[in-house]
Formats: sequence, structure tokens, C-alpha cells
Amino acid sequence: MAGVTVIKPDLQAIKQIMASGGESVKKCFQCATCSVVCNISPDSKPFPRKEMIQAQWGLKEELVKNPDIWLCHQCSDCTAYCPRGAKPGEVLGALRQMCIQHYATPPLLAKMVGDPRSLPLLIAFPILLLLAALKLTGHLAIPAGPIVYSKFFPTLLVDFIFVPAFFFAVAVLAKGVMAYWKDINVNPWKVKAKGNLVGNLIATLTDILWHNRFRKCEVTYQRSTNHLLVLFGFIFLLIVTSWGFLNEWVLHHDSPYRIYEPIKLLAMVGTAALLYGIYNIIKQRQANAEQAGAGSYFDWMFIYVVLVVGATGLLAWLFRLVGIKILAYPTYFLHLSSVFFLFFYAPYTKMAHMVYRTVAMLYARMSDRGF
Ligand code: SF4
Ligand code: SF4
Repeated sequence: MAGVTVIKPDLQAIKQIMASGGESVKKCFQCATCSVVCNISPDSKPFPRKEMIQAQWGLKEELVKNPDIWLCHQCSDCTAYCPRGAKPGEVLGALRQMCIQHYATPPLLAKMVGDPRSLPLLIAFPILLLLAALKLTGHLAIPAGPIVYSKFFPTLLVDFIFVPAFFFAVAVLAKGVMAYWKDINVNPWKVKAKGNLVGNLIATLTDILWHNRFRKCEVTYQRSTNHLLVLFGFIFLLIVTSWGFLNEWVLHHDSPYRIYEPIKLLAMVGTAALLYGIYNIIKQRQANAEQAGAGSYFDWMFIYVVLVVGATGLLAWLFRLVGIKILAYPTYFLHLSSVFFLFFYAPYTKMAHMVYRTVAMLYARMSDRGF
């Protein structure tokens, strides 16, 4: 039987793909229209046709270490033109979810995050944790006097909870991504990344920052603009948070910023960009659902968490400005809970796409895949 490759379909993997938004995968009849219309796909070994057949067979081991699933930006050009309604863009989204869950530890938490039935438990965890912290430190009450959030939730207590949560997420992500990098270098076509790692990483990050690839999409072109707004909003708010941390621990300056201070303006611009971008993403996803696919639970959960983080942050600020205590403190508490949710579960949610896509694009650049 020399030269014959025996393929054993993995039924479990097929079920997983179909349950994660790729329910139409079986409709594909391999016409390759999708690979032709995709403006991002390289000429050599183009995607997503080959991924569609691998997904139909449930070749999980090959699919999770296939860097091409991350080169796709889910613009849905291929989904709009697929003559069979197989929704290749959605299938690739399901494969990316499978990849994130495959490399995340512990697997139970990864499974829970992908399962809508576990959502109440996942939401309850940060809320109960923060409530317990307030109770144990005697802060479970609305403080007297003007609204000062650090009187309600002391900054030190915030750091005590959020810093370990942040490092937990970074450690899980780093472990997953290192395993992924190792695997993609022995991918199905066995091409190893070569060249200057730092130089190529800078070029890749520049590509991502300006969405040079994403902007080649046509059917849902505006998605790239809205995604860029969310990305920059996120970067600005990360700068503001890091500045706050520096202020507290190095400069020992812990009072609220004045409205005209540059850092406050950056926070306002960041929040506006984040909220405007995510609002448009929701609106357009709903408007394009028939043509481009409705999106999976995994996608929507991430979108709504980002929305809650941005909205509660903005409302907590507004309620403080107008002095409505009864709304300000609970909103601030919800804001902290949603930020914890966003970061603590990051290695298991769509948030991890920031890291996996960067690594896959870096690999593509370093292995001459036309990136
Ligand atoms: S996903 Fe659609 S366009 Fe792509 S190969 Fe299959 S049938 Fe053709
Ligand atoms: S969704 Fe867009 S980027 Fe992804 S494979 Fe289809 S056409 Fe290409």
C-alpha cells in the first residue's frame, strides 16, 4: 500500500466545527470559488478550499496547526460567493475557535468558555470574587461623601486581584502560543520560518496596526474600519491603564485625572473609538447576516464583553461627574467585573486571536507565503 494515505474522519471534531458556527461545512463540493475570490489568500496553496475538505473530514490535528486559518480575517467575501452556501468564512471562524481551545490550559476552562451553558457560571465567578474581596476588607457599602471610586474599591485591592489575573492570562497564552509556534513550524507542508525574527515581527505588527490585509476585503469592507477603531480604542485604554499603574506605584499620585489632562483625553478618545467601533460591528453583522453569516456564540460573546467593558466604563465616569452615587458605585463594580472577565478568560475567548493571528502572520511572512 506504498503511497496510499489512509484518512480517518474524526466525527467528534466534525461535530465540534459544526457546533461552533461551521454547520454548513458539509455543503462544500470543492469548486474552489472561495480560494479564487479571497483577496488575501496566497497563490501557492491557497485557502480556504483546502481547509473546507479538511474540516469535512475532521482532520483536527492538521487544522489546529494550519497557520492559514489565521490569515483569514473573516471578511466573508468567500461566503458571499460560495455557490453552495457552505459559508467558508464561518467555517474558518469555527476552526480558529478550535485552535484557541486546543492550545489553552486547563482544557476544562477552554471547554466551558466555548459552551453557552457555562456562561452564567463564568459571569458569576468575577462578581462573587469581587464581592468577597469587598466583604473581607469591610468595603461592602456605599461610602459617604463625594464619589471617589478608590474609597469603595481601594486601588491596592484592585491590584491585588487584577495583577495575578493578568499574569495568569499571560502565562496561559504564552504557553499555548509557544506550543503553537512549534507546531506550525512542522505544519502539513513542513516549511520552517527563517530570517530576522525581530525585523519580521515589526513588519507584521505594522501590517496589523494599519489593517493592510484586512482592508483588501470587499463584501464587508467597513468591518476593517470598525475593527481598527476597536483596536485603537483598546490600545489607548491600555496606555491609560498602564499610566495609572505607573502613577500609583512609581509617581505615588493617586487622585482622579482632571478632564483637560492629556491622559484623560486619551481615555475619552479610546472609549469613544471602542464603543463606536463595536456598535458598528454589531449593526453590520446583523445587517449582513444573510450574505456573510450570522457569527457564532464565540464571536458574539467577545463582542458583547467588549461592549459591556466600554459602556460601564463610560457610565461610571458620567455618573461620577453628575454625582449619582446609587448608580455610580454599582456601575463601577460591573465595570471591574467585566474587565476581569475580559482579561482572565482572554486565553480561551476570541481575545486570544490578537496573539495567534500575529504569530501566524509572522510565520507566513517568514516562510514566504506572500505576507
Ligand atoms: S466552500 Fe463553497 S466556494 Fe469554497 S470550495 Fe466549497 S463549495 Fe466551493
Ligand atoms: S472570509 Fe475573507 S479572508 Fe477569510 S477566507 Fe473568506 S474571503 Fe478570505
